Order: sequence, then C-alpha cells, then structure tokens
Amino acid sequence: MFFLFSKSKIIISIFEKFFEFQKAFHQIIFSWIPFSFGDLFYVLSGIIAAYLIYQCFRKKKRNNAILKLLLIINLFYFSYQVSWGMLYFQTPIIKKLKSQEKPNVIKAKKLALRYLEKCKTTRTQVSEDKNGIFVARDLKKIQEEIILQQLKLPKYISDKKGTQINSFKSSLFRNVMNYSGILGYYNPFTAEAQYNSMLPSSFIPFTLAHESSHQLGFAREQEANFIAYLVGVNSKNLELRYSTEYFTLKSLLRFIIEEDPNFVKSILNHYSKGMKRDQLYERSFILKHQGWLDDFFGITNNLFLQSNQQEGSVTYSYFIDLLLNYEQ
Ligand SMILES: [Zn+2]
Repeated sequence: MFFLFSKSKIIISIFEKFFEFQKAFHQIIFSWIPFSFGDLFYVLSGIIAAYLIYQCFRKKKRNNAILKLLLIINLFYFSYQVSWGMLYFQTPIIKKLKSQEKPNVIKAKKLALRYLEKCKTTRTQVSEDKNGIFVARDLKKIQEEIILQQLKLPKYISDKKGTQINSFKSSLFRNVMNYSGILGYYNPFTAEAQYNSMLPSSFIPFTLAHESSHQLGFAREQEANFIAYLVGVNSKNLELRYSTEYFTLKSLLRFIIEEDPNFVKSILNHYSKGMKRDQLYERSFILKHQGWLDDFFGITNNLFLQSNQQEGSVTYSYFIDLLLNYEQ
C-alpha cells in the first residue's frame, strides 16, 4: 500500500499536510516533558519486544507471543510510515533550485576559501573554555534562534510551517551515542529532536539545526543539512553561525579532498589558532570514542538510510550539490 502511495504526488502532499498536523499535536503532548519521552518509549518497547521474543521460545505461550509481536511490529511500521516514512518521497529540494549543475571542484574551492575566512572571523567573536576550545554557552538561545530562523527560509525552498514549539531534548543515550558516531536523531513518534549534549561544542548548534530541520518536515539527511545551513549561515547568533560555517567548510573539504588533497592541506594550515584547537578537540573526541559500536552503528545507519533511498554517510555530494547550486 505504501509503495503505491509513494508513486502519487497528490497522496504524498496529503502526507506532508498530515505530518504538520501530527507533529504539532505530538509537540503539544510531549515537548513540555523535561526529558526525552521518545527515548523512554524506545526503551519500554525494547523491553516488551525482548519479553515477547523470550515467550516465543516457550511452547505453551508461543502462538500468543508471535501474534502479539507481529501486531506490534505492524503497528510500529504503520505509524512510522504515516508520520515520517512517506516524507522521503517529497519533491527533492534540488528540483526547486534555478541552477541544477553537477558539483564542480573549482567552485567548491572558491567557496571553501570564502568559508575559511568566515569561520576565522566568527571564531574570534565566540567564547572559549579554559583550554581555548570553542564552547556554546547558551543552548536555549540557539534553539530559539533556530525556530525563529525557520520562519525566514526562502519560500521557493520551504513552504513548511514551523510550530514555534521548543522540542529539543538531550538524548538519554548520550553515553552510548558518544561511541556510535551519531550526533542526534529525530523521533517520528513524539516529534522530539534528540541531540548528544556531550559532543564538542563545535558540533552541537549545527546538530540542533539539523534535527530541527527534520522536525520541520525534511526527511532526507542532506536536505536537513542544507536547511540547517540556511538557518545558521546568516544568523545573528554567533555560536550557531560558527558551527554552521565550520560544518560547511568541513563538508566542502571532504568533497575537494578526492580531487586535490594538497588544496585541503593548505586550507587546514590556514585555520586560525582557535579553529585548530577546535579541530584537534573534535578529532580527539572521535578517536577516544572509536570502536566496534561505531562500526555497528555506521553499518546499521547506512542500511537504514539506503532503505529509504538515502545515500548513506559515505558520500556527501548531495549537500554539496545543493550548496553550490544555491550559492550560484
Ligand atoms: Zn538527520
């Protein structure tokens, strides 16, 4: 049924409208709860599923347990598709841009040089901790700014309605997340945006903007990055702007390095002292938390994204595609 739905533009647009209603409704119910209710919901679901699977191994209870398990999986899948899955079939943002050229390294290099300068300038205006590493002092303010900036997105790119409800939650799984390589996630069942509050500050504001782009109704990963970029890049909130400019620069470098590693090396050498400290701190955080869990989540996350017609985390070209064409 969902496969057939996904072929119809009219039905997809009905799901888009339904998403706005569903999200607003769920945010009214769940946003005021001071912790991530969605995380608790996942834990409880996990316990129930584990219990039912255990029952499947007991002869007397088997039939009943299998029936319940299938029912729960079916309900899960149905609610997921209705409140989120169908959004993967929306018109891609790239089709809404006037310029639709293939990304090209020369343009990417020009933009990287511009973003290097932007980063350097903004970096001088933000706070540092005692080790001289960038620190985002006021996450509440950043969250409010993101919600506000979503109202100002260009209409030809997004005509989605933000709810103006703050539903950002620090993830209950942050200790596990440190090792997972996952910065945040959107919970389609509660419309909460989870982020890992233990990440280096340079990641956090942009991650908030990214997860909030999902809340706004952009399902595709690279489109969420692009909307987050639009939200953050002209913001007067310097912490959000620095995190956004820095993400943009890193994405451009990741794209350029395939063709011209020397160019990337020279840009890295021209980082300001503050940026170099931030970069080292990010790297040490990632190295410290590398391990099998990272591989596990890397693989499962890629499978999830690919099953939703996403390119996975290996290539970053669609964000670069959007960025270069938009800048053009
Ligand atoms: Zn995402």
